[in-house]
Amino acid sequence: MTSYTCPRHGQYLAVDLGLPEGFGAVPITVAAQCQACAQAANALKQQTQALVDVQRATWTRWQEAEIPSRFKNRTVANWRPTTKQAAAARIVHTWLSDLDARWKTGEGLLLMGVPGVGKTHLLAGLLTAAVQAGHTARYASWPDIWARFRPPYSEHPEELMRALRKVDFLALDEIGLTVSTEKEQARLFELIDSRYSRRRPTLIATNATAATLASIGERTADRLREACVAVSIPGDSYRGRAPTDKVLLDAPWPINQPTAEALRYIVSVDGQDVEREWEPKAA
Ligand SMILES: [Zn+2]
Repeated sequence: MTSYTCPRHGQYLAVDLGLPEGFGAVPITVAAQCQACAQAANALKQQTQALVDVQRATWTRWQEAEIPSRFKNRTVANWRPTTKQAAAARIVHTWLSDLDARWKTGEGLLLMGVPGVGKTHLLAGLLTAAVQAGHTARYASWPDIWARFRPPYSEHPEELMRALRKVDFLALDEIGLTVSTEKEQARLFELIDSRYSRRRPTLIATNATAATLASIGERTADRLREACVAVSIPGDSYRGRAPTDKVLLDAPWPINQPTAEALRYIVSVDGQDVEREWEPKAA
Protein backbone atom coordinates (compact mmCIF):
# COMPACT_ATOMS: atom_id res chain seq x y z
CA MET A 1 0.00 0.00 0.00
CA THR A 2 1.28 3.40 -0.95
CA SER A 3 1.01 6.25 1.52
CA TYR A 4 0.59 9.90 0.50
CA THR A 5 0.52 13.11 2.45
CA CYS A 6 -2.15 15.80 2.14
CA PRO A 7 -0.75 19.21 3.16
CA ARG A 8 -4.04 19.96 4.96
CA HIS A 9 -5.07 16.60 6.41
CA GLY A 10 -1.94 14.49 6.69
CA GLN A 11 -1.43 10.90 5.62
CA TYR A 12 -3.79 8.87 3.46
CA LEU A 13 -3.41 5.51 1.78
CA ALA A 14 -3.83 4.39 -1.76
CA VAL A 15 -6.05 1.33 -2.03
CA ASP A 16 -4.15 -1.64 -3.44
CA LEU A 17 -6.50 -3.37 -5.84
CA GLY A 18 -4.08 -6.28 -6.22
CA LEU A 19 -4.71 -6.65 -9.96
CA PRO A 20 -2.59 -9.20 -11.72
CA GLU A 21 0.03 -7.78 -14.02
CA GLY A 22 0.77 -9.01 -17.50
CA PHE A 23 -1.53 -11.08 -19.70
CA GLY A 24 -1.70 -8.06 -22.03
CA ALA A 25 -4.25 -6.37 -19.82
CA VAL A 26 -4.59 -2.59 -19.96
CA PRO A 27 -3.19 -1.31 -16.65
CA ILE A 28 -5.84 0.20 -14.47
CA THR A 29 -4.78 3.23 -12.49
CA VAL A 30 -6.88 4.18 -9.55
CA ALA A 31 -5.97 7.61 -8.21
CA ALA A 32 -5.98 7.84 -4.46
CA GLN A 33 -7.52 10.98 -3.03
CA CYS A 34 -7.61 12.43 0.42
CA GLN A 35 -11.02 11.62 1.89
CA ALA A 36 -10.96 14.65 4.18
CA CYS A 37 -10.45 16.89 1.14
CA ALA A 38 -13.35 15.20 -0.63
CA GLN A 39 -15.61 15.61 2.41
CA ALA A 40 -14.72 19.29 2.77
CA ALA A 41 -15.48 19.80 -0.92
CA ASN A 42 -18.85 18.07 -0.55
CA ALA A 43 -19.82 20.30 2.35
CA LEU A 44 -18.82 23.36 0.32
CA LYS A 45 -20.84 22.11 -2.66
CA GLN A 46 -23.93 21.66 -0.50
CA GLN A 47 -23.58 25.15 1.00
CA THR A 48 -23.09 26.68 -2.43
CA GLN A 49 -26.06 24.80 -3.88
CA ALA A 50 -28.32 25.90 -1.00
CA LEU A 51 -27.27 29.53 -1.43
CA VAL A 52 -27.80 29.45 -5.19
CA ASP A 53 -31.22 27.78 -4.71
CA VAL A 54 -32.30 30.60 -2.39
CA GLN A 55 -31.00 33.25 -4.81
CA ARG A 56 -32.81 31.65 -7.73
CA ALA A 57 -36.07 31.29 -5.81
CA THR A 58 -35.85 34.92 -4.66
CA TRP A 59 -35.20 36.08 -8.22
CA THR A 60 -38.17 34.06 -9.52
CA ARG A 61 -40.51 35.42 -6.85
CA TRP A 62 -39.33 38.94 -7.62
CA GLN A 63 -40.06 38.47 -11.33
CA GLU A 64 -43.45 37.06 -10.48
CA ALA A 65 -44.23 40.11 -8.34
CA GLU A 66 -44.65 42.04 -11.62
CA ILE A 67 -43.32 45.30 -10.25
CA PRO A 68 -43.40 47.83 -13.14
CA SER A 69 -39.91 48.04 -14.64
CA ARG A 70 -39.61 51.76 -13.93
CA PHE A 71 -40.05 51.02 -10.22
CA LYS A 72 -37.91 47.90 -9.94
CA ASN A 73 -34.99 49.82 -8.45
CA ARG A 74 -37.18 51.58 -5.89
CA THR A 75 -36.67 50.56 -2.30
CA VAL A 76 -38.03 51.92 0.95
CA ALA A 77 -34.48 53.06 1.69
CA ASN A 78 -34.16 55.15 -1.48
CA TRP A 79 -37.50 56.88 -0.97
CA ARG A 80 -36.53 60.31 0.30
CA PRO A 81 -39.44 61.83 2.17
CA THR A 82 -39.72 65.61 2.44
CA THR A 83 -39.82 67.21 5.88
CA LYS A 84 -43.62 67.20 5.70
CA GLN A 85 -43.59 63.45 5.00
CA ALA A 86 -41.39 62.50 7.96
CA ALA A 87 -44.29 61.22 10.06
CA ALA A 88 -45.55 59.08 7.15
CA ALA A 89 -42.05 57.68 6.65
CA ARG A 90 -41.86 56.68 10.31
CA ILE A 91 -45.11 54.71 10.05
CA VAL A 92 -43.90 52.91 6.89
CA HIS A 93 -40.54 52.05 8.46
CA THR A 94 -42.22 50.76 11.62
CA TRP A 95 -44.55 48.58 9.56
CA LEU A 96 -41.61 47.16 7.61
CA SER A 97 -39.44 46.63 10.69
CA ASP A 98 -41.38 43.49 11.64
CA LEU A 99 -42.58 41.82 8.48
CA ASP A 100 -43.11 38.50 10.31
CA ALA A 101 -45.64 40.14 12.59
CA ARG A 102 -47.45 41.69 9.59
CA TRP A 103 -47.52 38.29 7.96
CA LYS A 104 -48.97 36.65 11.08
CA THR A 105 -51.62 39.28 11.74
CA GLY A 106 -52.38 40.20 8.12
CA GLU A 107 -51.88 43.87 8.86
CA GLY A 108 -51.51 45.87 5.65
CA LEU A 109 -50.82 49.48 4.77
CA LEU A 110 -53.18 52.09 3.37
CA LEU A 111 -51.14 54.77 1.62
CA MET A 112 -53.16 57.91 0.96
CA GLY A 113 -51.97 60.91 -0.98
CA VAL A 114 -52.26 62.90 -4.18
CA PRO A 115 -50.61 61.46 -7.33
CA GLY A 116 -46.85 61.65 -7.32
CA VAL A 117 -46.01 61.68 -3.61
CA GLY A 118 -44.21 58.34 -3.95
CA LYS A 119 -46.94 55.80 -3.28
CA THR A 120 -45.99 53.47 -6.15
CA HIS A 121 -42.32 53.85 -5.19
CA LEU A 122 -43.19 52.67 -1.68
CA LEU A 123 -45.39 49.80 -2.89
CA ALA A 124 -42.53 48.55 -5.07
CA GLY A 125 -40.02 48.86 -2.24
CA LEU A 126 -42.28 47.13 0.27
CA LEU A 127 -42.99 44.21 -2.09
CA THR A 128 -39.28 43.78 -2.79
CA ALA A 129 -38.65 43.65 0.96
CA ALA A 130 -41.36 40.98 1.31
CA VAL A 131 -39.73 38.95 -1.50
CA GLN A 132 -36.34 39.27 0.18
CA ALA A 133 -37.91 37.97 3.39
CA GLY A 134 -39.00 34.82 1.54
CA HIS A 135 -42.60 35.72 0.68
CA THR A 136 -44.50 35.74 -2.58
CA ALA A 137 -45.69 39.18 -3.63
CA ARG A 138 -47.65 40.80 -6.42
CA TYR A 139 -48.13 44.32 -7.72
CA ALA A 140 -51.31 45.20 -9.58
CA SER A 141 -52.99 48.43 -10.52
CA TRP A 142 -56.70 48.39 -9.82
CA PRO A 143 -57.75 50.09 -13.11
CA ASP A 144 -55.84 47.36 -15.01
CA ILE A 145 -57.58 44.60 -13.06
CA TRP A 146 -60.99 46.15 -13.51
CA ALA A 147 -60.38 46.58 -17.26
CA ARG A 148 -60.31 42.78 -17.57
CA PHE A 149 -63.89 42.55 -16.39
CA ARG A 150 -65.09 44.72 -19.27
CA PRO A 151 -65.28 44.12 -23.01
CA PRO A 152 -63.48 42.70 -24.94
CA TYR A 153 -62.75 40.30 -22.04
CA SER A 154 -59.58 39.24 -23.79
CA GLU A 155 -57.89 38.07 -20.63
CA HIS A 156 -59.01 35.82 -17.83
CA PRO A 157 -60.02 37.95 -14.88
CA GLU A 158 -60.93 35.02 -12.61
CA GLU A 159 -57.51 33.47 -12.96
CA LEU A 160 -55.92 36.79 -12.07
CA MET A 161 -58.23 37.29 -9.11
CA ARG A 162 -57.36 33.84 -7.78
CA ALA A 163 -53.67 34.72 -7.95
CA LEU A 164 -54.28 38.05 -6.22
CA ARG A 165 -56.25 36.39 -3.43
CA LYS A 166 -53.52 33.81 -2.86
CA VAL A 167 -50.30 35.80 -2.90
CA ASP A 168 -48.64 36.51 0.49
CA PHE A 169 -48.30 40.27 0.05
CA LEU A 170 -50.48 42.10 -2.48
CA ALA A 171 -50.01 45.73 -3.51
CA LEU A 172 -53.03 47.34 -5.13
CA ASP A 173 -52.14 50.61 -6.77
CA GLU A 174 -54.28 53.45 -8.07
CA ILE A 175 -57.46 52.79 -6.22
CA GLY A 176 -58.90 56.13 -7.17
CA LEU A 177 -62.08 57.97 -6.54
CA THR A 178 -63.39 56.33 -9.68
CA VAL A 179 -64.53 53.07 -8.07
CA SER A 180 -68.02 54.31 -8.62
CA THR A 181 -70.21 51.61 -10.10
CA GLU A 182 -71.69 48.96 -7.86
CA LYS A 183 -70.20 46.19 -10.00
CA GLU A 184 -66.69 47.55 -9.66
CA GLN A 185 -67.10 48.17 -5.94
CA ALA A 186 -68.34 44.59 -5.51
CA ARG A 187 -65.27 43.17 -7.30
CA LEU A 188 -62.91 45.23 -5.19
CA PHE A 189 -64.72 44.23 -2.02
CA GLU A 190 -64.59 40.56 -2.95
CA LEU A 191 -60.80 40.73 -3.31
CA ILE A 192 -60.14 42.81 -0.20
CA ASP A 193 -62.56 40.78 1.90
CA SER A 194 -61.10 37.46 0.78
CA ARG A 195 -57.62 38.56 1.81
CA TYR A 196 -58.97 40.09 5.00
CA SER A 197 -60.63 36.84 6.08
CA ARG A 198 -57.46 34.85 5.34
CA ARG A 199 -55.34 37.45 7.16
CA ARG A 200 -53.16 38.18 4.17
CA PRO A 201 -51.54 41.62 4.19
CA THR A 202 -52.68 43.99 1.45
CA LEU A 203 -50.94 47.24 0.60
CA ILE A 204 -53.16 49.88 -0.91
CA ALA A 205 -52.34 53.13 -2.64
CA THR A 206 -55.16 55.57 -3.17
CA ASN A 207 -55.81 59.19 -4.02
CA ALA A 208 -58.66 59.12 -1.52
CA THR A 209 -58.23 60.69 1.91
CA ALA A 210 -59.55 59.36 5.19
CA ALA A 211 -62.58 61.58 4.60
CA THR A 212 -63.29 60.38 1.04
CA LEU A 213 -62.28 56.72 1.44
CA ALA A 214 -65.92 55.60 1.43
CA SER A 215 -66.03 56.51 -2.27
CA ILE A 216 -64.35 53.17 -3.04
CA GLY A 217 -67.29 51.42 -1.40
CA GLU A 218 -68.34 51.61 2.23
CA ARG A 219 -67.78 47.93 2.98
CA THR A 220 -64.31 47.92 1.38
CA ALA A 221 -63.38 51.09 3.25
CA ASP A 222 -64.44 49.41 6.50
CA ARG A 223 -62.26 46.36 5.85
CA LEU A 224 -59.27 48.55 5.01
CA ARG A 225 -59.73 50.67 8.12
CA GLU A 226 -59.68 47.49 10.16
CA ALA A 227 -56.89 45.58 8.41
CA CYS A 228 -54.49 48.35 7.42
CA VAL A 229 -52.34 50.94 9.08
CA ALA A 230 -53.40 54.23 7.49
CA VAL A 231 -50.61 56.48 6.22
CA SER A 232 -51.41 59.91 4.93
CA ILE A 233 -48.56 61.12 2.73
CA PRO A 234 -48.75 64.90 2.46
CA GLY A 235 -47.01 67.10 -0.03
CA ASP A 236 -47.01 68.09 -3.63
CA SER A 237 -46.15 65.77 -6.42
CA TYR A 238 -42.45 65.09 -6.90
CA ARG A 239 -42.93 63.22 -10.12
CA GLY A 240 -42.00 66.46 -11.91
CA ARG A 241 -38.45 66.26 -10.65
CA ALA A 242 -38.14 62.49 -10.90
CA PRO A 243 -36.86 62.32 -14.53
CA THR A 244 -33.81 64.36 -13.56
CA ASP A 245 -33.30 62.55 -10.28
CA LYS A 246 -29.98 60.86 -11.11
CA VAL A 247 -29.80 58.98 -7.83
CA LEU A 248 -33.09 57.21 -8.50
CA LEU A 249 -32.48 56.66 -12.21
CA ASP A 250 -29.08 55.09 -11.53
CA ALA A 251 -30.13 53.11 -8.48
CA PRO A 252 -29.25 49.43 -8.97
CA TRP A 253 -31.85 46.70 -8.77
CA PRO A 254 -32.13 45.44 -5.20
CA ILE A 255 -32.32 41.82 -6.42
CA ASN A 256 -30.18 40.45 -9.20
CA GLN A 257 -30.38 37.41 -11.40
CA PRO A 258 -27.99 34.90 -9.88
CA THR A 259 -25.07 33.93 -12.08
CA ALA A 260 -23.86 30.36 -12.15
CA GLU A 261 -20.36 30.78 -10.89
CA ALA A 262 -18.24 27.64 -10.73
CA LEU A 263 -16.90 26.57 -7.38
CA ARG A 264 -13.15 25.90 -7.34
CA TYR A 265 -11.68 23.61 -4.74
CA ILE A 266 -8.50 21.64 -4.10
CA VAL A 267 -8.16 17.93 -3.49
CA SER A 268 -4.98 16.04 -2.78
CA VAL A 269 -4.67 13.28 -5.39
CA ASP A 270 -1.74 10.88 -5.20
CA GLY A 271 0.02 13.41 -3.00
CA GLN A 272 -0.45 16.30 -5.44
CA ASP A 273 -2.85 19.21 -4.96
CA VAL A 274 -5.32 19.22 -7.86
CA GLU A 275 -7.74 22.08 -8.54
CA ARG A 276 -11.24 21.01 -9.50
CA GLU A 277 -14.32 22.87 -10.64
CA TRP A 278 -17.95 22.26 -9.85
CA GLU A 279 -21.09 24.06 -10.96
CA PRO A 280 -24.34 24.29 -8.97
CA LYS A 281 -27.13 22.21 -10.44
CA ALA A 282 -30.12 23.79 -12.12
CA ALA A 283 -33.32 23.85 -10.11
ZN1 LIG B 1 -6.84 16.57 2.36
